[in-house]
Amino acid sequence: MAKILIIDDSRLIAHVAKTILTKGGHEVFLAQDGLAGLEAAKAQQPDIILLDLIMPVMDGYQVCEQLKKEESTKEIPIIMLTSKAEPADKVKGLQMGALDYVTKPFDEGELVARVNIQLQLKELYEALQEKNRQLQEMANRDGLTGLFNHRYFHDQLSKDFLRARRYHETLSCVLLDIDHFKKFNDTYGHQTGDVVLSTLGRIIEDSVRDSDLAARYGGEEFALVLYHTDGPAALHVSERLRQAVEGCEVDAEGKTLNVTISLGIATFPHEQIRDSKELVECADKALYQAKENGRNRVEVFDK
Ligand code: GH3
Ligand code: MG
Ligand code: MG
Repeated sequence: MAKILIIDDSRLIAHVAKTILTKGGHEVFLAQDGLAGLEAAKAQQPDIILLDLIMPVMDGYQVCEQLKKEESTKEIPIIMLTSKAEPADKVKGLQMGALDYVTKPFDEGELVARVNIQLQLKELYEALQEKNRQLQEMANRDGLTGLFNHRYFHDQLSKDFLRARRYHETLSCVLLDIDHFKKFNDTYGHQTGDVVLSTLGRIIEDSVRDSDLAARYGGEEFALVLYHTDGPAALHVSERLRQAVEGCEVDAEGKTLNVTISLGIATFPHEQIRDSKELVECADKALYQAKENGRNRVEVFDK
C-alpha cells in the first residue's frame, strides 16, 4: 500500500481518481489547490503525487517547481493530470521534473498501471540508494575488525586537522601496536592472530567515545583520533585502553591468551605539528619510544 496525494481543483476528477486508487489498495489524500497541495506534500510525505496542471491561483507547473525546490519533497515522483491533448504541455511538465502524465478523463486501468510503474521505480531507486550507502560504508571499513580502514582514517584526519587548526581546537592522535605479535603468530598461527586482532578491535571500540575515530591503521597497528582532547586526557584514555587489553583474556581454540599493546600519543597544537601527516608521525615516534622503553606502556610525544 502506498500513500498517494492528488492535487486537483476539480472535486469530481479527484474523487474518481481516489476511488480507483483506493480500490487498488492505496491510501489517498486530496488537496484542492496548489498551496494546500504543497502543505500536504510536506506534511504527509506521500510516495507519489498526482498533479493537475490547470488550477486557479497556482497552476500545476508552479506547484511542480516548488515541490522540486523543497528538500523534503523534491524526490517525490509526480504524475501530471492533464485534460489537454497538446504535447507541448506534457513536454513542459516532463521538463520540469514530472515523470509521467495521465490524460483526463481517466481510463481506470491506465491510471492504476502508470501509478504502479512509478511506485515500482521508486522502490528500486530506494533499494539502489541503500545498496550504495552500504557499499560506501564497506569501502571505509576494515574487513577483519569492522573499524575504519587506513584510507578513511587519513581522509578524515586531514579534514579534522584543518578544522582544528582554523578553530583552535585541541586534537590528539594515538597510535598503538601489539607487542611481539610476530612471535604470537609464529606460536599459535595466523588464524589465532586474527582472533586477537578482532578482539582488540572490539576493546578499542568500547574504550573510545562514539564521536572519536578508531581505525585499523595497518597489520597489527591501530589509530585513534580523540577530538577536543589534550595530552593529559589522551594519556588517561590510552592508559585505560592499555590496562583493558592487558587484563583481557582472549579465547582462541580452547586456549586463553594474554596480549599487551604499546601506545604513542601526539597532541595538536604543537610547534612541530603543522599538518595531519606530522601529527601521525609524532604519534609514531612516541610509539617507538614506548617500544624502546619496554613495551606494554604509553608514551607522549615531546612531553
Ligand atoms: P613489536 O612488539 O616490536 O611490535 O613486535 P611485533 O612482532 O609485533 O612487530 P613486527 O612489526 O615485527 O611484526 C608484526 C607482525 O604482525 C607481523 C605479522 O606476523 C603480524 N600481522 C600483521 N598483520 C596481520 C594480520 O592481518 N593477521 C595476523 N594474524 N597477523 C598479522
Ligand atoms: Mg607489533
Ligand atoms: Mg607493527
